[in-house]
Amino acid sequence: MSVALIWAEAHDRIIGADGGIPWRLPEDMRHFRAQTSGSPVVMGRRTWDSLPERFRPLPGRTNIVVTRRADWAAPGAEVAHSVEDALAAAGDADTVWVMGGAQLYTAALPLADRVEVTEVDLAVDGDTRAPQLGDGWTAEHGEWLTSADGLRYRFVRYLR
Ligand code: NAP
Repeated sequence: MSVALIWAEAHDRIIGADGGIPWRLPEDMRHFRAQTSGSPVVMGRRTWDSLPERFRPLPGRTNIVVTRRADWAAPGAEVAHSVEDALAAAGDADTVWVMGGAQLYTAALPLADRVEVTEVDLAVDGDTRAPQLGDGWTAEHGEWLTSADGLRYRFVRYLR
């Protein structure tokens, strides 16, 4: 099984602010859907909470939510109490996608062989940052694109 992480980051690796994502980039949401459709997704409880109710569980994917709370439950969510349990719950999937947030990325990074990062060319305040990948990764940089709203972004794939 491949363990893949996927996130979008602004300048200074900002990925979140006040429990949400401080920009809107529909092109990246389409990219996220295309990458993850058909595969299990693993997320921290705070990221689950950040999804609008009408969007959760994310359709076409087993949604596995990691929490330390013994009594936590939500319709459409499979509950796991550690990253290792979450990966076990993903069964024999070819790829399991860790979709945030920062706590989950940090916990899953040692197990990951692939990271899909959308770099957003935006300076924005935030309170949550993506982890630094460290050495040993090979990067493939996509070309810079401009969204319909005028935001510059590019897709970068890291493999090891
Ligand atoms: P998070 O990683 O989504 O969730 C943290 C929660 O997960 C913890 O409070 C705990 O839940 C549970 N947890 C974490 N580690 C655990 C472990 N080892 N074992 C068991 N449970 C564990 O929270 P976050 O780091 O604050 O990230 C949320 C922010 O990131 C939001 O702003 C969100 O919008 C943003 N985000 C951005 C992107 C992006 O691509 N830009 C993607 C995803 C999320 P309990 O408290 O229930 O025990």
